[in-house]
Amino acid sequence: MNYELVIGLETHVELSTESKIFCSCGGHSSPKEPNDCVCPACSGMPGMLPVMNKKVIELAVTAGLMLNCDINRYTTFDKKNYYYPDLPCAYQITQLNHPICTNGCVTLKTSSGNRDIRIKQIHMEEDAGKLVHGANVSYVDFNRTSVPLIEIVTQPDFRSAEEVVTYLNKLKSMFRSGGISECEEGAMRCDVNISVRPEGSEEFGVRTEIKNMSSFEAIDRAIRYEAQRHIDALEFETEELVQETRRFDDASGKTFAMRNKETEADYRYFPDANLMPIVISDEWLEKIKENKPEAVDEKAENYREAGISDKEIDMLISNNKISKLLDDIVLMGCKAKDAAAWILTDCAGILRKDGKTLNDLTITPHKLYSITKMVDSGEINRNAGKKILIAVIENDVDPIAFCKENGLDKKFDSSAIETVIDKVISENAQAVADFKNGKVKALQALFGACMKELKGAGDPAQIKVLLEEKLS
Ligand code: ADP
Ligand code: MG
Ligand code: ZN
Repeated sequence: MNYELVIGLETHVELSTESKIFCSCGGHSSPKEPNDCVCPACSGMPGMLPVMNKKVIELAVTAGLMLNCDINRYTTFDKKNYYYPDLPCAYQITQLNHPICTNGCVTLKTSSGNRDIRIKQIHMEEDAGKLVHGANVSYVDFNRTSVPLIEIVTQPDFRSAEEVVTYLNKLKSMFRSGGISECEEGAMRCDVNISVRPEGSEEFGVRTEIKNMSSFEAIDRAIRYEAQRHIDALEFETEELVQETRRFDDASGKTFAMRNKETEADYRYFPDANLMPIVISDEWLEKIKENKPEAVDEKAENYREAGISDKEIDMLISNNKISKLLDDIVLMGCKAKDAAAWILTDCAGILRKDGKTLNDLTITPHKLYSITKMVDSGEINRNAGKKILIAVIENDVDPIAFCKENGLDKKFDSSAIETVIDKVISENAQAVADFKNGKVKALQALFGACMKELKGAGDPAQIKVLLEEKLS
């Protein structure tokens, strides 16, 4: 029998806020040492009260808008009660009854065409701390406690591991370009709910949930393993499937049962009376919409129309800093296609030689633009532009001054070029005679001699034209 895979995803994303969700401790990217960013509130001291971080709401709404959700104007927090050493309050503040966003949808481009995945809801919550296990001792690090998260819950609409990975990559580029989260390893964690059913059946099978995975590659392997386990169980009655929580073991590539699935009742949810309901006004929502960055698809479409290749678009979409640099110099007047080449090929290549990546690029839009402008206007050729770029990247020189000091523009006016050509012609009488006798190759030799004399400066096409003119 053929089976169909049914998968639903719960994805936790740590938001890029400066501070935590309910106190003023530094957020996700602040801590250096364990327990650097901890205060009485986020370490659960009695009597401390949470104070809502407005930015969290704005980022959650932005994420909801990007995923085509309804934004709920009335939203509340609930306490989810459980005991664990990394949870100092013995409850997590989350949203059960009135999540901030519901009913969204995201379209995936897959090898089998477009696929719509429905988003059930997005809710805000706080992260838990971390346990660090030593040989005979365990430590608890509260830096991550109360770092803001959004959890994005899909309907069970995925039918393959490929679709899941496509979705996660899409979320990642959206959230990066939207300033919602950098989604580094560990900042994006997934619970994968999975079941199988005979092809054509409408009913859902028994599902298991694989908890807390952050590498896309591991998610892909875990889904393939777990799906086969379900199919074997149904097909060959190797075991009885039960609804449970499992973990994926990276080394063996297998999943193992952790515990029976908790139900909602296990957590004794109740409204958090310490936090006022949040009401999102029309004005506020409008303001968030205005500040919302361009949707990834639109952005990609605009780049495509500007003649940028798909591969380059992927690089731009996933790197906010770089796409901003490109947008900036395009706004100043550089052609988008040229800008992409300067940044993604030339800058990247120069950095690569030093073992660096585009993330290390510090060139200002202004300096980069002044190089591209000199090349565009014919003041210097592209080779000279590249030399200047290297100097700017390595020593942060002033492009125009560097160009002048090194004479990269000097030999470029046509009278200077003509002088060089005259010199070459007078010094290479034999080649000139050969050319006049119909040896085409001789022209190439003369051209090469001119280029050598000009030390790479000058526009090759212009030099060729002038040389031919002189010879005829
Ligand atoms: P719970 O309250 O138990 O967490 P939810 O209804 O919130 O259950 O669903 C959690 C996730 O499990 C959702 O992403 C949902 O799409 C997915 N899911 C629900 N039923 C199934 C199923 N039979 N197979 C696969 N995924 C499922
Ligand atoms: Mg759930
Ligand atoms: Zn704190």
